Amino acid sequence: MSIDGRGPSLNRSADNTIAALKSKNGRLEERITVLEGVAKANADDRDSYMEQTAELEGERDRARGIAVEFEQRVSRVQQLHQPFPEPVQGYLPDGSYGYIDPACQMCGTPDEYGAPWPCATYKAATGTDLEGAA
Ligand SMILES: [Zn+2]
Repeated sequence: MSIDGRGPSLNRSADNTIAALKSKNGRLEERITVLEGVAKANADDRDSYMEQTAELEGERDRARGIAVEFEQRVSRVQQLHQPFPEPVQGYLPDGSYGYIDPACQMCGTPDEYGAPWPCATYKAATGTDLEGAA
């Protein structure tokens, strides 16, 4: 018996408190285990996304390189298929022979079989061959 006469009651109260704390501790440990699992899954997802992002960035960079190369090629085609500064001889659309103005520098044979400019190649390179197409 304690001095104030509450010995057994105090011990029971302390035992209940300890049991409650142990129970709460157990629930917290379970929660920590769940959260550790979530954190691990999130880290795995993050790593996967990082790998996918790096892969897609590589594909994007390769596609950009290809686009730049093709732009340069198309630009070169456009530079080659420019009109002569002077009319050249060739067959006109009506089948007669005469001067074509403007005529392409690359297509046809100048002063023999000149080809009207813009030629089909220039139109294809500039996309003007598709104008009006649905
Ligand atoms: Zn041409």
